[in-house]
Amino acid sequence: MLTNSVVRIAVIGAGPAGLSVAAALKDAEVFEEHNVVGLPRHCTSLVSAVSAERVGIPREVVVRRYDELYVTNLDGDFIRFRIRGGVYLLDRPGLERRLAEHVANIRFGEKVTAIKGPYLYTERGEKYGPYDYIVVAEGSLRRLSRAYGEVVRLPGLQVDVKSPAELPGITVVYNPKISQAYFAWVVEVDKGVYRVGLADKCCLVEKLNKLVKLLKGSPVDRPFGGGVLAGPPVQRVVHGRVVLVGDAAGLVKPLSGGGIVLAVKSGKLAAEALARGTPSLYEEGTRQLRMRLRAAHLLFKLLYGKRAVDRLLKTLSGGDYLAVDYDDHVKTLATAALTDPRSLAALRALLLAGYSYVSHFFK
Ligand SMILES: Cc1cc2nc3c(=O)[nH]c(=O)nc-3n(C[C@H](O)[C@H](O)[C@H](O)COP(=O)(O)OP(=O)(O)OC[C@H]3O[C@@H](n4cnc5c(N)ncnc54)[C@H](O)[C@@H]3O)c2cc1C
Repeated sequence: MLTNSVVRIAVIGAGPAGLSVAAALKDAEVFEEHNVVGLPRHCTSLVSAVSAERVGIPREVVVRRYDELYVTNLDGDFIRFRIRGGVYLLDRPGLERRLAEHVANIRFGEKVTAIKGPYLYTERGEKYGPYDYIVVAEGSLRRLSRAYGEVVRLPGLQVDVKSPAELPGITVVYNPKISQAYFAWVVEVDKGVYRVGLADKCCLVEKLNKLVKLLKGSPVDRPFGGGVLAGPPVQRVVHGRVVLVGDAAGLVKPLSGGGIVLAVKSGKLAAEALARGTPSLYEEGTRQLRMRLRAAHLLFKLLYGKRAVDRLLKTLSGGDYLAVDYDDHVKTLATAALTDPRSLAALRALLLAGYSYVSHFFK
């Protein structure tokens, strides 16, 4: 544990990002608007096994492992990815509970509504502080962190259903009738039980019902969800005494909305920098990561905004690739395209979409 005995630090939000900061700093005070950690659930809970181990996500919260991922449009086209290192399904509330074991000071039921200088104000009218640093780890709602930069946010909704579908592992669905702005997913979380969900700009309930019906599914639990972020990350993660981590900083993979590993990683990096009294180390330490996420955000605009993903899927249909890095989609797609003789056609499809995307701005 890092010590910060002379520096007062407040953390807003007890998700994986905020708890990772506080677990590493002895005396940080955490403010959490709910009365428990990890609930209500919102997340599908898939992470790259390699990255999960690298950032120290405990093995006890791993529920299941997958080695393959299928991509389909439900119109007969599909691609198979074998995933180097595999993907874990996590017990997500369990992850937060484990992280919270190392945090001494969590103020539950305290929703922070404003930051003014070194002070925090809560919905119940309390004033806390002064603090030397205020870490904003409020997740995708970004009520406080929005002031430091916009991040694309799409509503996401999912439900666990029993279904005779017999789909293997993880299936990602690119079909504009089911999600126009992003994608849908079907993940086997237990034998014959699938977590079915989607993110899109509108009509989530109707679209989710449609997908569940297609799978002949019957819900085994209540639907749950939240905001899925698609980047780009904020330009700067440190603003004077305010430090942004996890979703609050837009640190998510734009092509999948995945942010658990980045939340833990950014939380740990921020804690190290604050313990040394040098927040700029956190700014520096995340610079390359943010550049890569910005490149992935451009790809998000091209693949999903211009639906180049539909043409790409048709071109590479039937392909069987190695996903070299589950967390780096740009690298994985580039490697897949370069190892397939049809890659030139795929590249052409992407370039054409890119050209029409760019030329749109000159009309
Ligand atoms: C539908 C869906 C599916 C997803 N699937 C995946 C997936 O499969 N894999 C993956 O890696 N990521 C996934 N994500 C994203 C992932 O859930 C987030 O990236 C991750 O939770 C970010 O962690 P965080 O700590 O930054 O924020 P959060 O986990 O959102 O935690 C923020 C915490 O702050 C609290 N809070 C918020 N505002 C305040 C306030 N003002 N005062 C006090 N407390 C506050 C909240 O109650 C919450 O506890 C998914 C997200 C959604 C919505």
